[in-house]
Parts: sequence; C-alpha cells; structure tokens
Amino acid sequence: MTTEDRIIYLDNAATTFPKPEVVYQTMDHFYRNFGGNAGRGSNPLARKAATLVEETRSLLRSWLDAPEVIFQPSATIALNTAILGAGLSAGDIVYVSPFEHNSVLRPLEHLRQTVGIQIEVLPFDRQTLECKLDEVKALFRLDPPAMVCVSLVSNVLGLILPVGKICQFAKQISSRAITIVDGAQAAGLIPVDMVHVDALVFSGHKSLYGPYGIAGITFGTDWRPSPVIRGGTGTQSESIDMPLDGPSRFEAGSQNIAAVAGLKAALEWLGQTGQDSICRHSQELSALLYETLVQYPRVVVHFPADHKKHFGSISFSVDGVMPQAVETALGSSGVAVRAGLHCAPWCHEFIGTMAAGGTTRVSVGHFTDENDVAEFATKFDKIVRG
Ligand code: PMP
Repeated sequence: MTTEDRIIYLDNAATTFPKPEVVYQTMDHFYRNFGGNAGRGSNPLARKAATLVEETRSLLRSWLDAPEVIFQPSATIALNTAILGAGLSAGDIVYVSPFEHNSVLRPLEHLRQTVGIQIEVLPFDRQTLECKLDEVKALFRLDPPAMVCVSLVSNVLGLILPVGKICQFAKQISSRAITIVDGAQAAGLIPVDMVHVDALVFSGHKSLYGPYGIAGITFGTDWRPSPVIRGGTGTQSESIDMPLDGPSRFEAGSQNIAAVAGLKAALEWLGQTGQDSICRHSQELSALLYETLVQYPRVVVHFPADHKKHFGSISFSVDGVMPQAVETALGSSGVAVRAGLHCAPWCHEFIGTMAAGGTTRVSVGHFTDENDVAEFATKFDKIVRG
C-alpha cells in the first residue's frame, strides 16, 4: 500500500486527523510571512506574534469558559506542570480514576517514590462503568483528598466521567484539595463546570483540531502550581526569579507560535462549525460503530451501560484474537486503529483486558463519515469471520 492510498482514519483519540484546511493554510502563512518571536522585543514581527498569542489565549478563555489560560507544549507537560508543581508532601492522598493516562500516573508515581504521597483509585462499577458517587463521598470523608486528578473522557473507553461532581465533593470535604481534570480527549467539546476545577488540561492537537506542539492549562480558581520549567520569558528580566504572576510565570522559553497560529485558526473553525454539531456527529458515528461491533458474538465492546456517557473512542476485544493482530489486519486493509494499552494500564486492569494485551480502539472525529464506518464494517467482518 502506498501513502497515496485512501486511509480510513479511526484513530482520532491519538490525534484528530485531518485538520480543518484553514489550519494548514494559517500555519504555512505564518512561517512565510511573520515568524517573529512573541514577547522578545518590540519589533513589528515580535509584536505581531505577541498579539497572536494573546488573541488565541482570549479565544480559549471564552471557548473553555475559564478566567486564565497558560500555554504548554503538550498535555503531558501541562499535567506534569500541574501535578509536580502542586507542592504535595508525604502522606498526601491523591485520588485518580481507574482510567487515567500515564501522563497522570507517571508523575504521581514519581511523587509516591520520592515524596511519599499515597495514590488511591476512585470506585467505579466494573459492569456499568458508572462512578459510585456515594462511595466517593464516603471515601473523601474518611481520608480527605490533597488532590484529585481525573480524566474528563477516557482515551480507552470514551467514557465521560462526572468530573464536576468529583471535584465538587473534594472541595466540600477539604477546601484545600487541589482538583485537576485531564481534558486531553474532550476539552472544548464536552462542557466542564469550572467552579470546583482548579486546573483543566487541554490538548491542541486532539479535541481542538489544532496542530501538535500546543496545549495548556485553564485555571478555574485562584490556585496556581509552582513553575516546574524556569527560564527566559522576555518580561521582568532584571530578576532571576520567575515572574510572580500572569501566564509568563509558566511559559519560560520561546513559544511554538506557528502552533499557536494553527490553534487560533482551529478555534475559529470550531466556533463556526459549532460544538454541538461536532459532538452530535461524533456520537452518531460512534453509535454506528457500536452497532456494527455488537453484532458479533465473538466481540466484547467495553462500553458504558448509559450510552449518553460516551464520547469518541470505542474499545473492543475479539475472542481468541490478540488486539495487535486486529490492528495489523485492519492496517493492511487501509484502516488505521490502535491496539494495546493506550498508555492507560490501570484502565485495562480495571476492565480485565491486561492479560490479553489490551484492546483494539476505534475513534471517530469530525471528518469521519458514514462511508468510513461502512468500509470499516466490511473489512472488520472479513477479519472476524476469518
Ligand atoms: N491524557 C489523555 C487522556 C490522553 O489521551 C493523552 C494522549 N493520548 C494525554 C493525556 C497526553 O497527550 P500528549 O501525548 O499530547 O501529551
């Protein structure tokens, strides 16, 4: 197969693809016409770049409904900034969901080993995938959280978690509890009530349809971590301390302004296309995929009992076939999906798919259409029926 062959791209949880045409055009235009460095002097190109960064920040503030936004190069770095900069100490209890990505689990595990924090997993029902909110409350009362760190949408299961409620319970029990939401899969598409959320991490290249190299944190409250990365900001340069407030406290080093330009174009496109229409499209296609998969007695679809609590990714297992074999067979017939643990090992322990090497995941996006699903169905049928 050559790269020119049509690929049915069902791996939008890894990165949304393709991007809106305007994202490609804007980034190309940026590098050809005004590639200055934001906040580095007041020459016309530097000023133009700084304006671009501030306009994008302001668009994000309203798109994500949060008072402050800081840019980071990736969701992984943003999560590290929030978790490692939180100043946790020995004995502090951090609650996570069973579905967290390694970009949450690995920084926490580092703090467990070096500082002595304790990591606890929130209770969910293995059959329905429902969060046991009453038990969460009781757990918080018994052992108050120093931090909760939960995903808005699982990158393995597409499960929408009740992050607003979990963060609210945490703050009710302990006003000093730090609440972090990993919104890499859905920030900007699934609304989050930011009242009890200290930090919501977003990813430019996933649910916002922008390019790689731009992500960040939106702060819903006055809580701020300590900066983890330190260096030049182009401001207050007389001091070798980081600026005490404002986004530049967390934005040391040259920013990826081409990516910011691409993200701005993506946000404008999102605004025109509409959050509701993007979500509806994705949910309709997920439903089609679900219907396709559940027809097969050999296939187990790991799906929430309440179908309304689903967005984006669907994971499934085929009895007697390793997920990697399904990925390879689909790949060689031109369908891009992802098999394995999806960097979320505890999720696979929770749903019982660890020993089998994980699941096969299909994930739709705005540019997936019904023909893609139909072609997937035909090709998958051949694999399952062998
Ligand atoms: N959190 C979740 C839920 C994710 O799905 C991902 C990416 N798969 C990340 C964090 C990390 O994002 P990135 O690799 O873009 O830093």
